[in-house]
Amino acid sequence: MKLRVFKFGGASVRDAEGIRNITKIVRNALQQGTRLACVVSATGKTTNALEHILKTWLKAPEAGLRALQELAAHHVQIARDLLKDPAPAIREIESIQERIAQGLAHPSGVLFDALYDQVVSEGERMATALVSAYWQSEALPHSLLDARQLIRTNPTWREGEVLWEPTREALRASGARLWEQNPGQVLLTQGFIGGGPHGESVTLGREGSDYSAALIAAGLEAEDVVIWKDVAGVYNADPKVHPGAVLFSRLSYDDALELACYGATIIHPKTIFPLKSSGIPLLVKSFQYPEAPGTRIDNNRTLALVPALIQKPRQALLQIRTKNGEFLNENHLATIFQCARQSRLKVNALHHTALEINLCVEDDLHHIDEFLKALAMDFSITTRRKLELITLIHPSPTLTENVLGSRKPLLEQSNHRVMRFVAEAVN
Ligand code: ASP
Ligand code: MG
Repeated sequence: MKLRVFKFGGASVRDAEGIRNITKIVRNALQQGTRLACVVSATGKTTNALEHILKTWLKAPEAGLRALQELAAHHVQIARDLLKDPAPAIREIESIQERIAQGLAHPSGVLFDALYDQVVSEGERMATALVSAYWQSEALPHSLLDARQLIRTNPTWREGEVLWEPTREALRASGARLWEQNPGQVLLTQGFIGGGPHGESVTLGREGSDYSAALIAAGLEAEDVVIWKDVAGVYNADPKVHPGAVLFSRLSYDDALELACYGATIIHPKTIFPLKSSGIPLLVKSFQYPEAPGTRIDNNRTLALVPALIQKPRQALLQIRTKNGEFLNENHLATIFQCARQSRLKVNALHHTALEINLCVEDDLHHIDEFLKALAMDFSITTRRKLELITLIHPSPTLTENVLGSRKPLLEQSNHRVMRFVAEAVN
């Protein structure tokens, strides 16, 4: 029996209609005799909402709990719209809400990132509770499994490092158990979450459900993975911003990885390695037009990569010099990168001269502050925020001048194939 892994992102399960739609896609695959494992993300913008709830709660607990109440009410409404008998699902949503509130009332001194993982990971659990309740009401055979039992990680909060052997073992054992019971049932689980050494929630990095799907596919030796999105596949630019964007029908793993690393919101960069190393193809398809072919990503070389444009928002530029005016030597650079690694700074581009190194990083205040403090003694750093990182692959003159417009690049980096600019964000 052909095993496929389907990943449904937040946009595909944002409301009752969305959950009904993905159920049609699943039923259709089952009718074709496919065995399925389904990975589901939190609904819509729930993860952003949970991040906001956590940050609000830390400043003003009452306001944080009100925001949590609103999020729970939103999910209760989806249950009411979706289910003839919503009571059990509502109870489940309310117990998750209670668990989040308990997590927030944490003993002082718990690491922010550890608390983040206990709170923000609950979004995926709310989503799978709704999907499972609907599949139960529709007699769609499935087992809802806890992703923390399937994907094992070390406790690197917010960026769990997957322990591959225990993960593969857990996936194989769970898959065998589940399909022994009922060969036609669907394995349903959460994306974005792994289980730490004591079974605690460890998240895999924002947009990490793609990575979850790839790991599950590799562990279960699936035929392929389908990532169901609100666009028709992978384009050479954001089709919501550039109407003339071209859809790729085929991409190699490396091309897809390059686009994802430069910030194309097609798949999480970590998705590629598990699939490339097991030769499992990845399809990016539209959940609105599931019959359309989408983009197939495998180890066939892309014929000729048409010019591609990727714009990565929410960037900051750190201009670093030595305090005493000395030129930047290897020790300085080693210290800078050591501190970047320790503060978990995400460096997306860099430019280095004798007296200065410029780092373009994710504009995540929490990590930038840690980095600035660590270097304050020996380095002076100018920080510019609200920037974007623009990457052009096989740049064409028209694409370049249009995308920059009158903006002067703050950092440029190019070779014969790729040009990269950091500039003020346009909106
Ligand atoms: N819900 C998580 C996020 O928004 C994971 C995902 O969507 O892949 O980052
Ligand atoms: Mg999400």
